[in-house]
Amino acid sequence: MGKMRQVNSYKYVVIGSGPFGSTIAHKIATQLNQEVLLVDKRDHIGGNCFSSPHKETGIETHHYGSHIFHTSNKKVWDYVNLFSDFNDYRHIVYAKSKGISYTLPLNLTTINSFFKSDLSPQEARSFIEKESELFKNKDASNFEEKAKSLIGEKLYQAFFSGYSEKQWGTSPLNLPASTFSRLPIRYNRDHFYFSDQYEGIPTNGYGKLFLNMINHPNIHLKLKTDFKEIKPYLNPNALVIYSGPLDEFFHYCFGDLGWRTLTFEKEVHDCEDYQGCAVMNYVDKEIPYTRIHEFKHYQTHLPHIRKSQKTITFKEYSTFVKRGETPYYPVNSKEDREIFQLYWKESLNLKNYIFGGRLGSYQYFDMHQVFAQALHLFEEKVRPYDQYKINVSV
Ligand SMILES: Cc1cc2nc3c(=O)[nH]c(=O)nc-3n(C[C@H](O)[C@H](O)[C@H](O)COP(=O)(O)OP(=O)(O)OC[C@H]3O[C@@H](n4cnc5c(N)ncnc54)[C@H](O)[C@@H]3O)c2cc1C
Repeated sequence: MGKMRQVNSYKYVVIGSGPFGSTIAHKIATQLNQEVLLVDKRDHIGGNCFSSPHKETGIETHHYGSHIFHTSNKKVWDYVNLFSDFNDYRHIVYAKSKGISYTLPLNLTTINSFFKSDLSPQEARSFIEKESELFKNKDASNFEEKAKSLIGEKLYQAFFSGYSEKQWGTSPLNLPASTFSRLPIRYNRDHFYFSDQYEGIPTNGYGKLFLNMINHPNIHLKLKTDFKEIKPYLNPNALVIYSGPLDEFFHYCFGDLGWRTLTFEKEVHDCEDYQGCAVMNYVDKEIPYTRIHEFKHYQTHLPHIRKSQKTITFKEYSTFVKRGETPYYPVNSKEDREIFQLYWKESLNLKNYIFGGRLGSYQYFDMHQVFAQALHLFEEKVRPYDQYKINVSV
């Protein structure tokens, strides 16, 4: 990485070093051969995807909860493979309901274990049809109505009602129907969580992957620095690519967007394996946390880590965000969408700002979607800016 100069000497300034900001910075440095100032308020790069080896156990720990890379976009897959190899991990999730573990997403095995039956795919389809018959509703307008109309009352209550309320901090009656449509139901025994063409975990962790992305003399990194601190010193001609929260950028002038945040309780256990899988969802409402992550299961390529007599887990708790806290998931209620439109319209008036990423677009994006958005915006908006040949040197 290069040595930082005065803030007002940069033509390109990128805020946020997650997948979005790191991709844009890497492209500016390598494709435009221009210097870029990359700023993040945290003390590390990689945004919410950051992982690093835990000091005591050596286990690669995902600081903001489990991150599994998956995509069917070959361009994105080829791009991330420039910076890291990936192992062969394929994600499997279990759900604990009333003390019993089931496979998720709901599949034939889940249905048969839950109803203590041995139905064939066809029989299971007819059975679920019957279970949901009473609740059929083409105009289902919320999560609960939609879920019951597809899987019936019993599976909904067991797997989705309590979990969704804990995750979103509101009754499923207040959540959009689309939140349920994202969750797959399968009538076969496919227990893999994702069905993308490419999947895996970076073999040396996400921290190394992002370091390899931004390790270029044209990229000047400034950590532990909020955008607010450098804004007064920006060159008026600089192009700013911003991946922080949109409402914060505009000083909340149209109100606060709804976000959920997560807190994690870390525990080190003196055993080889704590729960037998990387993620266990706790779907009962009475249990205050939503999931337990056990990170050593992601290191399929390192048997000595998986067999070591220590393991590290994170219990995940979900709460609403207060101003200044780290937002994770956009709540995306109808009111939020209306507020977002006001901010978005305002953002289009700022000709030398580009907003993107999960926080800047106020959208729940997986990593591959953010990489794709950044690669696209670089070609559409950042590369053309270079043609103005603006001189900002001082
Ligand atoms: C619990 C959880 C699990 C997830 N699991 C997966 C998964 O398994 N697979 C998957 O593909 N995706 C997963 N995701 C989604 C993934 O985290 C996001 O797609 C990705 O992090 C978005 O990248 P980004 O660059 O847009 O934002 P971020 O990664 O959030 O990076 C934004 C960066 O901007 C910085 N920043 C914000 N405001 C400012 C400011 N004012 N000044 C300076 N810096 C600022 C932040 O510090 C942060 O580093 C998960 C998300 C969460 C919350």
